[in-house]
Amino acid sequence: MQISPSVRAAMVPDENPMHPGFTSIYLVGPKGGQSLTIDSGEAFERYQWFLRGYLAAVEQTEISIATITHHHQDHSGNLKWANEMLGARIDITQGGRPLLKGKIPTEVNQLSDGDTIDLGSGVRVQVLHTPGHSVDSMSYYLEDEGVLFTGDTLLGSSTTTVRDLGPYRRSLERLAALPNIKVICPGHGAIVNDPRERLQMYINHRAQREQQVIKALEGGKQLTSWEIMLQVYPDLDPRLHRGADGNVRSHLTQLQEEGRIKGYAGVPRKPNKKKIERDIEHAKVEDKVLKQAKKIEKARSTASLRAQENPSALEWKQAPRFELA
Ligand SMILES: [Zn+2]
Repeated sequence: MQISPSVRAAMVPDENPMHPGFTSIYLVGPKGGQSLTIDSGEAFERYQWFLRGYLAAVEQTEISIATITHHHQDHSGNLKWANEMLGARIDITQGGRPLLKGKIPTEVNQLSDGDTIDLGSGVRVQVLHTPGHSVDSMSYYLEDEGVLFTGDTLLGSSTTTVRDLGPYRRSLERLAALPNIKVICPGHGAIVNDPRERLQMYINHRAQREQQVIKALEGGKQLTSWEIMLQVYPDLDPRLHRGADGNVRSHLTQLQEEGRIKGYAGVPRKPNKKKIERDIEHAKVEDKVLKQAKKIEKARSTASLRAQENPSALEWKQAPRFELA
């Protein structure tokens, strides 16, 4: 889908409840010139096929640089693949290197806040460090065309999860102050065509959640984050409870840092050595079964292919016979 003169979106349907609608891969660059991909999905074949199919069907460019908005695996899973199969240079996020261990090739280019990626023909992408969803969250900004890429800092069809709320709210304010935004391209969900309203909505939404968290504590009882979460999100799909609890915890951390609430340390459960050992053993058995299943699958497919081309002689109890007439 064409978003602006230099931006295209490859929107891959996604069924994860955390990612309503789509997980998107964006291509930025002048037609026929160099292209940058922003995010490239999980390390599943369907993302690789989708991107290859899209490139073959729609693009007249090659991927010269592959970058990500943050280290999470649904954005960074295909960096090695993009490097090996497409020959792309890999750009990584500010603070992302230790978090991307094992997922990146040895040679990478480290981006920092304030950098510009120049794709030629006047297409220049600004790099903004916008932590909050994760410590290494980056946004990319094409000021001339009014396109902002937010990754999971702002989503298209839902609110997002926040790790550090203070930095997150500052990041939103920073994005809202950018001079020219016509459209936001998020990591998941629909393209956002009312960017200023949406950013303001996110800012207001966080202020409102903070009020709800404070209200839950006004009863005067000490509560855990989980208990607060159940009050603040009474009708939430239980599969999203953990994410919501994370949001409440990030509000609690910020309120505590500001001296507005008091916190009491919890007592961690002792790690159960036997259970850990059992889990390791279990994973080993699973790996073995998986390996065997793959072998069987391959053998079956080879056998059926062979049977198609050379039907087996075993079907005859007595084969047809011939002699000179
Ligand atoms: Zn994501």
